[in-house]
Amino acid sequence: MALKLLCLAGDGIGPEIMVATQKVVAAAAACHGLDLQFEDREIGFAALEAQHSTIPESVIEAARAADGVVLGPVSHNAYPPREAGGLNPSGVLRKELDLFANIRPATSVAGLPTPTGAPVDLVIFRENLEGFYADRNLHSGPGEFMPVPGVAMAMRLVTRHASERIGRAAFANAEREGRKRVTAVHKANVLRTSDGLFLEVIREIAADHPDIAYDEVLVDAATALLVRDPSRFDVIVTTNMFGDILSDLATELAGGLGLAASLNLGPHHAAAQAQHGSAPDIAGQDKANPTSLIGSAAMLMAQLGCPPVALSIQTALTEALSRPATRTADIGGPLGTTAFTDSVIDLLRETDE
Ligand code: NAD
Repeated sequence: MALKLLCLAGDGIGPEIMVATQKVVAAAAACHGLDLQFEDREIGFAALEAQHSTIPESVIEAARAADGVVLGPVSHNAYPPREAGGLNPSGVLRKELDLFANIRPATSVAGLPTPTGAPVDLVIFRENLEGFYADRNLHSGPGEFMPVPGVAMAMRLVTRHASERIGRAAFANAEREGRKRVTAVHKANVLRTSDGLFLEVIREIAADHPDIAYDEVLVDAATALLVRDPSRFDVIVTTNMFGDILSDLATELAGGLGLAASLNLGPHHAAAQAQHGSAPDIAGQDKANPTSLIGSAAMLMAQLGCPPVALSIQTALTEALSRPATRTADIGGPLGTTAFTDSVIDLLRETDE
């Protein structure tokens, strides 16, 4: 089997964690005899300087042609306006590749302390193309506007089609992974029409899956319940912004944002993407924890039909994180990015011997 991954390092710590990810994935691929190639392309500030766009058209074409994409974090808050080429690369890729689901697991590691002491094991299915984010990737048609000075408005898009796709993906995952419950998180008491439609659709899908428990929780209550008793949740399905916010909370409760993997998934394409941002405060200092992007790449390998490669990577990562001596500084360990990556590779080769 041969695979080609398009690697887009991005800004800030992106290049460091991309190198770490490529090293670990290449080592796992070699252990399993997989012919794996990486193609590196620039996005973010590097692309803006050379090609006047933070995500040039040629990169989108390369993403379409690749078997999968590994996407580093970008500093989109610091970009110039869209007219000057400052597009949000992850938003554009999600739209262009129809990556409708953002799958964000939050799983604590045995031995690694969590903020509340409680173990966490859940997965969030976040609708990835609509909500308040529906227009942010387009070249025109702002979904936020000022009808008159001093009054700002934002539009939130929810469609039956998108709700159905994310709902079906969440229930299919529960079935495949043996998870017992799907919880729809919403704010339909206020957003009666948009979240009302979302819930209506998810209920229809739940009715097709009588073996999986289904319930609904308001998003404000969900934050409190996540802190009080994360075991209350198994699979969460929710709209775009709620998923964005809840997944940071869930992964922090599971041990830290730097550990949080995520996969953007569509019918024909998939992109691994760290949950965290470009961390400009620690960029270029060998301090970044690459676990999030490495774990995301493991999810991508599983999606691309290489579960043994994914399992090797995940097992080595978990083992490294479970040992205090092989942790990075953000989670109280002594290692920098490079030394942590080398430890993961050593563990991976040991386990596969
Ligand atoms: P951030 O996630 O970059 O950083 C928040 C804090 O967590 C910082 O103290 C940072 O040092 C730390 N941190 C993050 N990732 C880490 C890692 N892997 N290892 C160790 N420490 C880590 O969030 P921010 O500071 O709010 O945003 C910085 C930039 O990233 C902004 O321009 C923002 O727009 C962008 N951003 C991008 C994405 C993305 O590309 N997917 C997501 C969120 C934010």
